[in-house]
Amino acid sequence: MTFAPPTIRALAAYWVAQGGVNLGIVGDTAHQAQGTSYHLGKSQLAVGAYSARTARDKAGLTEAASALDLGRLGGSLLALRTFSLWFAKQCQANAPGTRDVREVIFALDGTHVVGWSREAGVNSAFISNYGDSSHLTHTHISFYRDSEFRAKVGLFQPYFKTAPVPATEAPMPALTTYIPGSVATIKATANIRTAPTLAAATVARVSTGEKAKVIGTVKGAIDPDGGSDQWFMWWELSHYLYTAKSNVTSVAAATTDCAPAVAAAVTAQKAADAQAQTAAVNAATAPLKQKIAAAKSALG
Ligand SMILES: [Zn+2]
Repeated sequence: MTFAPPTIRALAAYWVAQGGVNLGIVGDTAHQAQGTSYHLGKSQLAVGAYSARTARDKAGLTEAASALDLGRLGGSLLALRTFSLWFAKQCQANAPGTRDVREVIFALDGTHVVGWSREAGVNSAFISNYGDSSHLTHTHISFYRDSEFRAKVGLFQPYFKTAPVPATEAPMPALTTYIPGSVATIKATANIRTAPTLAAATVARVSTGEKAKVIGTVKGAIDPDGGSDQWFMWWELSHYLYTAKSNVTSVAAATTDCAPAVAAAVTAQKAADAQAQTAAVNAATAPLKQKIAAAKSALG
């Protein structure tokens, strides 16, 4: 039976510790029915399975699964895609440890699934439609089967320990508006950048109606699309991220609900006012009442 090897379990645990969702290592019944996946071990693979064809996969073939599925990071699909693009680029660049990565299947934006395959060449371009549409909401990483006993946590660590794009990251510009907690809806195919200029690196593209919790707007380069120099800015994954104002279709104010507290304060104040008023009237009329009482007794 297929089992999840400790090295991939440790990588999944690290992902979870960073706020990611672990969607699994060992293939489910659908994977088993096909019998081809890196999520399966030796005895569940069909003859000629693509995940057991390369020399490295044949050499390391055991009952261990050799893939990991990643879900949302910090509750966000955009954050998952940003991470996945970084990871796939690490593989393209042959970064330390990525020699063991066989393929990465992920979404470039809300509609395009692509894959990087080491078999296509380490620095090969991403391949369109490499996986099915389920990869719009999860990222698949498979490893050569001969890497079963090699540690893998180091593959993800650089992203979380240091900024993935520190060299190009500009210092934060002065805010022109400060609207913390407001939620900006970003239009389809908008680019998310590392600085408020079209020259800055793109970290992700969004699909329709995605939302970002913004800090405010800053003055950046003029966006030919909207003619404005204002950019929305927010903080995500240890970075300030920016998108041009023309990419934002609406902004909803921060949704801190203080209405009940305000209502309670108003009620309390009204009661205190009424009490004070009654006391003042009583104090003002007391001498008069005394005089009336005295007059009455004099007449009697
Ligand atoms: Zn998978």
